[in-house]
Amino acid sequence: KQITSTIASHEDLVNDNALRPKTFDGYIGQSKVKENMKIYIEAAKNRGDALDHVLLYGPPGLGKTTLAGIVAGEMGSNIKVTSGPAITIPGEIVAVLMTLKDGDILFIDEIHRLSKPVEETLYSAMEDFAVDIVMGKDTTARSIHTKLPRFTLIGATTRPGLLSAPLRDRFGIIGHMDYYTPEELSTIVTASASKLNAPIDYEGAYQIALRSRGTPRLANRYLKRVRDYAEVRYDGEITKEVAAATLDSLEVDTLGLDNNDRNILLAIIERFNGGPVGLDNLAATVGEDSGTIEDVYEPYLLQHGLIIRTPKGRVATKVAYEHFNMPVPENLS
Ligand code: ADP
Repeated sequence: KQITSTIASHEDLVNDNALRPKTFDGYIGQSKVKENMKIYIEAAKNRGDALDHVLLYGPPGLGKTTLAGIVAGEMGSNIKVTSGPAITIPGEIVAVLMTLKDGDILFIDEIHRLSKPVEETLYSAMEDFAVDIVMGKDTTARSIHTKLPRFTLIGATTRPGLLSAPLRDRFGIIGHMDYYTPEELSTIVTASASKLNAPIDYEGAYQIALRSRGTPRLANRYLKRVRDYAEVRYDGEITKEVAAATLDSLEVDTLGLDNNDRNILLAIIERFNGGPVGLDNLAATVGEDSGTIEDVYEPYLLQHGLIIRTPKGRVATKVAYEHFNMPVPENLS
């Protein structure tokens, strides 16, 4: 399924790497997670120990991979990056673990998508820094106990609820990533524009920030589109007017909602009379995967008070009706 709003495209990945801050100073916002990480890093370094395993969770594009890279830099360690779906059998995770050195960081994105056998291999690797490798089959099978270096696993997930309890319990540090404020996103947009040598004024950066769903990856993606527009249609400078015109043409509205968000909201309002509607029912109506609605779209709609979750399902709020200039039903006004 093609979801263009918040899940990374190929261009995003190239873009992400070019614009990714390399140090805590360049890493804007997420102050709670950041300050905690700094303390744990300093303590681990003073003890000459590896950092405890870290689980980062939150919607896509909020800086989990970036933070893992910064942590590795601060620890003076190497980082190996992989993802849940990329590792299918225990032998593959063992092969990766065997390449690590003391203090190295292993970053596993989408860690909730690891298969059960791979996850079970990780338990002893995380806890005892050892794995049991099974050689041979049936009656000749024997397992070889192999020591591993003291490494740090940094796991990232959009769906912490899907992690099994034994895996979750093996993370000593858990960081929850929040959506960024428009001010924080403005700072990020301004810094990215400077890396891209694109002239931008404060209002231009703020306009992009306001419409980026609290998500740096989106802010950077929109910045590039606005820059194109500024260069072709205007004199190159990114102003509020240019940013607004570009984002209007991309059908990103003033709250940062795109067509997918609007379809979800309008389905609740028009097809289900404002709700409550269950997640699966809603997903079937908009032709979207229910997990994607729950992880990618819903958190932002909830945070902006456009919907609420009730035991009976999702309900559109007064704010949602007002956003569409629709008459607010009596029970909401
Ligand atoms: P995630 O791993 O959570 O999906 P990424 O770490 O890949 O997100 O972040 C996407 C992009 O957004 C990064 O490449 C970077 O350019 C930008 N970014 C994310 N977080 C920050 C931040 N705190 N400060 C500045 N830029 C950021």
